[in-house]
Amino acid sequence: MRTAIIGGGIAGLAAAYELEKARVSYTLFESGSRLGGVIASSSVAGSILEEGPDSFLTEKPAAIELCRELGLGDALIPSNDAARKTWIVVRNRLIPLPDGLMFLVPTKLIPTALSPLFSLGAKLRMARELLLPPRPAAGDESVAALVERHYGPEAVDRLAGPLLSGIYGGEADQLSARAVLPRLVEMESHYGSLTRAMLAARRVPRPTGSPASGPARRSTFTTLRGGLQQMIDALAVKLNPQSIRMHTPVRQLEHIPEGWRITHPRASEIYGAVIVATPAWAASTLLATVDAQLAEELAGIPYSSSITVNLVYDEIKLGPLPEGFGFLVPASAGRAMLACTFAHRKFLGRTAPGKAVLRAFLGGVRNAALLDQPDGILVATARRELSEILGPRVIGPHIEPEEARVSRWPRAMAQYAVGHLDRVRRIRQRVAAWPNLHLIGNAYDGIGIPDCIRLGRAAAAQVTQPVAQPVSAKLK
Ligand SMILES: Cc1cc2nc3c(=O)[nH]c(=O)nc-3n(C[C@H](O)[C@H](O)[C@H](O)COP(=O)(O)OP(=O)(O)OC[C@H]3O[C@@H](n4cnc5c(N)ncnc54)[C@H](O)[C@@H]3O)c2cc1C
Repeated sequence: MRTAIIGGGIAGLAAAYELEKARVSYTLFESGSRLGGVIASSSVAGSILEEGPDSFLTEKPAAIELCRELGLGDALIPSNDAARKTWIVVRNRLIPLPDGLMFLVPTKLIPTALSPLFSLGAKLRMARELLLPPRPAAGDESVAALVERHYGPEAVDRLAGPLLSGIYGGEADQLSARAVLPRLVEMESHYGSLTRAMLAARRVPRPTGSPASGPARRSTFTTLRGGLQQMIDALAVKLNPQSIRMHTPVRQLEHIPEGWRITHPRASEIYGAVIVATPAWAASTLLATVDAQLAEELAGIPYSSSITVNLVYDEIKLGPLPEGFGFLVPASAGRAMLACTFAHRKFLGRTAPGKAVLRAFLGGVRNAALLDQPDGILVATARRELSEILGPRVIGPHIEPEEARVSRWPRAMAQYAVGHLDRVRRIRQRVAAWPNLHLIGNAYDGIGIPDCIRLGRAAAAQVTQPVAQPVSAKLK
């Protein structure tokens, strides 16, 4: 069936790749001047700079599988987990995350008891958590409410908040516990205490061959030696150039007896099926006249914006950086910076010898206005905060970066707010009522790259082998 794909981020590209393999005629419409959406990396004087995402979770196989299929198996590299250590900024001091944290849950008594991250009162509260009785599953609530009920407000401020703003650019008091931490919600209903539940889960031997079993335990993250852009370039090579329309923003969709009419600035065209791979807010505009209720649900999915500032330094000029991958900044610190990755440590072999790459994240829900600031101000802000956090002897104001690259990602990261799963269920029901309409991307069923690839390929498979699917299976 002749298919239109709207949006050339990783979700749309994965769908296009699948259709190309199945020899189904398709056109991919991309409003911008490049493919890849928020995935963009460049090589600057021998160092890879990741401007958007830097890697994917190893335990979710879709991205690694796709890279292997694209012939990039040899370019896959693991995160340098031997050096993994993450710091939290508390009153301008770096404090390590205690050993034994699993999904925000402290599972090692001694490291947690000794950690300077929490006050004595908070530690006593964490110890009492072991006594909590099972809690029958109720409605959705925020991650902050769940974590606070178990471990108190300090755990929200110093643990849940910074970890989630590092992943979603979002706030723990808005994100849905059911959508973001489904495992903890389930554990609470069986065990009550999350710590007891995690300890019990750890005692269950993992099946042989599972990602974390055996001596060849896999790394937490995987990336590509030449940057994630390698995956986008390899995908683009596999696609028929005639099927790709760059600089072509789709303005409207209409359902007509012949199928779907796609309107863009140059023409209107008719397709049998349509895969909408844009952010949900853009999908809402496209579908406004098709299904007002669906459009309203889509518009209700909030988004956060973020900014990355990549700074390349000569290592000799910097003082010694703390060990590990970088640090996270709690909201209570009142800073523009949400997190900073020591990129040259997280993945080895992607930075020119003798250089250090510090990748700062600014913005998020709490600092959306930063997006309008000029590059110079953003670089200066990142440098000032790095100096205040790491200390002027590590990175004094006089130490100039050799390269500085600012990348803005407006409204790019869907926020799975309280009630997200119900909203997605309603969206799926409405989508199922329209023939050959598919919605993919990071707004629905996982924000990571592997999730977007999985949804993109599944939507294309539905176009090539349309089988009657129960509504609940759509988008899964
Ligand atoms: C800064 C940042 C860091 C991240 N870090 C990680 C990470 O380390 N690991 C990880 O797994 N995930 C990470 N993510 C999340 C992940 O990268 C994204 O969720 C994923 O890449 C989104 O892909 P997508 O195809 O859904 O959307 P996008 O990449 O947003 O692509 C959508 C495309 O649609 C196009 N478009 C929009 N409207 C129209 C229209 N009307 N007509 C035509 N085209 C249109 C846009 O131009 C864009 O190219 C990060 C995200 C950001 C922003």
